[in-house]
Amino acid sequence: MKEYILALESSCDETACSIIKLDGTLLSNIVSSQIDTHTLYGGVMPEIASRLHIENINFVIKESLDKANIQLDEIAAIAITSGPGLIGALHVGLQAAKTLALTLNIPLIPVHHLVGHIYANSYVKENKYPCLAIVVSGGHTELVYMKKEFDFEIVGSTTDDAIGEAYDKVARILGLGYPGGPKIDKASKEGKDIYKLPYPHANGKYNVSYSGLKTYVNNFVHNTKAKGEDININDMACSFQHRAIEMIVDKAMDVIEDYDVKQVVVAGGVAANSYLRELISKRMEKYNDIELVLPPLWCCGDNAAMIAKAGLSLYKRNYFASLDLSAKPSWSLLDYKVNE
Ligand code: AMP
Ligand code: MG
Repeated sequence: MKEYILALESSCDETACSIIKLDGTLLSNIVSSQIDTHTLYGGVMPEIASRLHIENINFVIKESLDKANIQLDEIAAIAITSGPGLIGALHVGLQAAKTLALTLNIPLIPVHHLVGHIYANSYVKENKYPCLAIVVSGGHTELVYMKKEFDFEIVGSTTDDAIGEAYDKVARILGLGYPGGPKIDKASKEGKDIYKLPYPHANGKYNVSYSGLKTYVNNFVHNTKAKGEDININDMACSFQHRAIEMIVDKAMDVIEDYDVKQVVVAGGVAANSYLRELISKRMEKYNDIELVLPPLWCCGDNAAMIAKAGLSLYKRNYFASLDLSAKPSWSLLDYKVNE
């Protein structure tokens, strides 16, 4: 009996494989992170990421099968992140997925990486529509409205830097190192929101802008140091975190007021942020008829369990790709036409 889906993810700096049963039970979730290597360079080096994916992918697949205690001939389909992401990195997972699909003679399911992040929430609660997904990651900051499953409208987004990117850059300015998100989040808990940072407004009712905030912190830190004065790193981290998170949460609340929403989910690496989780929970308290779902912390960073969950939904719709499937490094959600 073929009753499992094998999912692969290699869009950035995590090589991951997961096995899910067709009834939705997650059997294994193996993630090999390259973070230690990229930390040496202060950020993800695309060429090194591709090489490490090539070195690791077969071990990750093997370990995932072993953990799930199943054989390759029990797999019904292969789900694969085919974009967006780093092109060389995507190609490694894609080629492995296509080889498995070809040799096992089973379907290939193309999964949009951000849809995977959105589906991480379904490990907590079933998706409910209309749904607003607050997508916050290293490369994306989008307010995605879904009237029904796989129906995407981007109602708001960043007009410049992604929120995770701003976190990483500000962490570097503050000397906190890479990756910046968790470091700022931790420092923030030791600090107070005492710095009067600006709240830049973007054009467009539901849009946000992060580059002005980042540049302000940069200039403030340099000017203060030039005067021979000290910055309190924990306080600055706290003030930055408060402004950065308030900006996106404020816009999400505007969408909730203006649109018909039954469920709000948070998706992407920044969904792990403690202040984001606290603030959105507090702001949502007054909406008795709207469900808030936060992804489990183990499913916020890149992983294949989320790709498996999205893949399972797509499998049930017979949404398959042919073996000439290619990587789509800048794939927009608007071009993910599952319902057509
Ligand atoms: P992703 O692009 O989905 O792989 O997520 C990676 C991004 O999430 C990076 O920019 C990280 O700095 C950021 N990130 C991870 N954990 C946190 C956190 N606790 N707070 C803020 N940002 C975070
Ligand atoms: Mg991601």
